[in-house]
Amino acid sequence: MADQKLLESIFLKYGLEDFRWICPGEIIVGQWVRFKCMFGCPEYGKNGCCPPDNVPSVAQCRAFVQEYGEGVIFHMAKHVDKPEDREAWSRKIHKKLSEMEREVFLSGYHKVFVLPIDNCLLCRECNKDRKQCVNPRTARPTAEALGIDVYATVRQYGFPIDVLPDYSQTMNRYAFLLVE
Ligand code: SF4
Repeated sequence: MADQKLLESIFLKYGLEDFRWICPGEIIVGQWVRFKCMFGCPEYGKNGCCPPDNVPSVAQCRAFVQEYGEGVIFHMAKHVDKPEDREAWSRKIHKKLSEMEREVFLSGYHKVFVLPIDNCLLCRECNKDRKQCVNPRTARPTAEALGIDVYATVRQYGFPIDVLPDYSQTMNRYAFLLVE
């Protein structure tokens, strides 16, 4: 069992206040999520942490999440005035999550793995190839890139999530932490 009190103090240090402990066995992984990447996402094949070449198969991703004893879902709500603002916000969150993941690792949790809220935006221009990634230690795939059905998974715990028709509405974004 992870020392939840200790880890929660780390989360709070990084301003991650809205979270919930979960059992990774309850994370829902679906092949349809990968199909949505393939047929609909403009980042498909263009990001070093995205399908098709830079993430494992959906079956491997399902096995991966089940190898963890505990998990955390972090909820982040944000309203942006214009679509371009989302990128800067996501980048800031990714950096914060990376630092938090490192601190959890240094606390003795060698398996810890974070899944950020957005595709990797650490660089302005992505090299598109995991082998050419300039931040291999901190670049991480999103939950969606691993085939996680974020909608169904977070709804199990009562978190809000809806398809938003435009940017005038508040986004509800989710990051995951796997730990043991
Ligand atoms: S760190 Fe940079 S090169 Fe690596 S996946 Fe992220 S954006 Fe691409």
